Amino acid sequence: MSAEPTSEFGHGEGAGTARRSRDDLMVQAIVAAAIILFVAVGGSVVPQIVKAWQGMESGPEVLMANALVLNVALILMGWNRYKALQAELAQRCASEEEAHRLARTDPLTGCLNRRSFIPAIDGLIANAIEADRHIAVGMIDLDNFKNINDYHGHQLGDTVLLQVSRRFRDLLPTDALLARLGGDEFALALSYPLGGHQEVEALLDRIVAAAARPVESGDSSLHVTASIGVASTKVAPPELGGENPGEQLMNRADIAMYQAKKLGRNRVQWFEPAMEYEQRFRGELESGIRRGIAAGQFIPYYEQQIDLEDGKLTGFEMLARWNSPELGIVSPDIFIPIVEEMGLIEELSRSLMIQAFDDARKWHPSLTLAVNVSPLQLRDPWFSQKILKLLLVNNFPPSRLEVEITESAMHEQVSMVRNTLTSLRNQGVMVTLDDFGMGYSSLSQLRMLPFDRLKIDRTFVKDLKHDSTSKLVGAIISMGEGLDMPLVAEGIEDGAILEQLKTMGKLKGQGYHYGRPEPADKVLERLAELGLLAEDPAATSDTGEASETEREAQQRAG
Ligand code: C2E
Ligand code: CA
Ligand code: CA
Repeated sequence: MSAEPTSEFGHGEGAGTARRSRDDLMVQAIVAAAIILFVAVGGSVVPQIVKAWQGMESGPEVLMANALVLNVALILMGWNRYKALQAELAQRCASEEEAHRLARTDPLTGCLNRRSFIPAIDGLIANAIEADRHIAVGMIDLDNFKNINDYHGHQLGDTVLLQVSRRFRDLLPTDALLARLGGDEFALALSYPLGGHQEVEALLDRIVAAAARPVESGDSSLHVTASIGVASTKVAPPELGGENPGEQLMNRADIAMYQAKKLGRNRVQWFEPAMEYEQRFRGELESGIRRGIAAGQFIPYYEQQIDLEDGKLTGFEMLARWNSPELGIVSPDIFIPIVEEMGLIEELSRSLMIQAFDDARKWHPSLTLAVNVSPLQLRDPWFSQKILKLLLVNNFPPSRLEVEITESAMHEQVSMVRNTLTSLRNQGVMVTLDDFGMGYSSLSQLRMLPFDRLKIDRTFVKDLKHDSTSKLVGAIISMGEGLDMPLVAEGIEDGAILEQLKTMGKLKGQGYHYGRPEPADKVLERLAELGLLAEDPAATSDTGEASETEREAQQRAG
């Protein structure tokens, strides 16, 4: 890999060089002094020796002769030491250089690392401003790389990283910077002429295409794709006076990269200023949610569930609401995905369930409580144990609880999901497949997973007047009957839909026709009217049979 940064980014050699030249100077000085002494002593001793040879004089003084011999020895020794020192210095120099290179680069791919990349972009920007050029910074994240590591091991994961980074480097101009920031995250920076925007776009497209080519290793053919977010000084010049320009471009490229992921991955997304506002709003929303969870602003609302045949209330589905002091009542469609991404869904779900158990204990014991759980919660192998413990601690009977699971949860680790569902059912908890028809559950998956009932999604129910939808719902209903799974229709908005559904099969249902989801106190008012509170006489009769007045009240409600 040739991902060497250019020389202007080198640093950190000063101290070693100074020490080296000091040592060098000492040895040189000793040798020089020895040579001067040799010349001085030799100047008087050598003529004496020559004359002694010619028999003109008796020979040099012993002391002077010894001094001369000593001088020669000193020069030889000094020379040797000088040579040894030179060799040692060369070696030290090389290892210092190597250490410096290692500190700057990623050992696997040889790309720059995060620490050296930021100052390198700043250097690139400074040069580009002088040369009237633009800089583009790209953040590259490999999609589905985690799967490679998980299913093929880290060694093949490393092979993919190395191969892919080589492809990037081969496509980039030689003076472009390429860094591995960690894991499967890379970054690039390059300068381009003012009119060269389109070429950069084309280059980035080639990089995305290069990442998508399979990596062959032994018998394995490994597939990843890349999502790239790009920010450039052309589209959004960094603000002066803020954080340094390199970091600003990186942050913006990062925002664009998340957008690329959101839009379906395997693509390039250029940064647009609006994304920054969106991110800021998102940041505020996140801190509001964090505060809201701590302050108990998330509360359960309840939607009635009805037996369509006799119009009897059978229970409620709990639907979360955020009672935000700034935003008012916020819908779960907005906050649940964010809470999931923040990693707080388990905590929120727990707090809502505890509130709901508290509320539902005041209801007639024949009434059930349905709760929605996120597919993320089902990834936890302890999920069912946690639910059962929560029921126990809060003194709520498992047989009154119903857990709603969306189809999307079934595409991950089917065997674990099955164990979880089985364990819940063994304790008496009911399990419903929610949003049925929206996902892609195959018949075989449905047969393998032990659901108690299926819930037909409201998008189908609301369009029941259309012939094609009504046929589809008919097919879903007969499939449920074939699988021996009772069905619930959600989204019954009016009497016409209700009447049509009644002709299609034996169903339970819910929807705005029966009323909007409402807070706990409104539910209590409704139940008091129906004589369906826990302390009502019917609630304490152990037959569980509805009393005459209760039945009447139920009919009225239906
Ligand atoms: P869902 O489970 O499909 O819940 C039904 C949604 O349909 C609710 O929206 C409900 O208010 C709405 N709805 C009920 N009747 C009608 C109708 O007649 N017409 C129409 N158009 N809509 C109707 P909501 O409360 O906004 O909940 C949206 C989604 O948020 C839920 O969809 C559920 O997936 C999720 N959710 C709600 N509470 C929680 C929770 O505590 N945990 C998790 N993980 N998800 C939750
Ligand atoms: Ca639901
Ligand atoms: Ca639904």
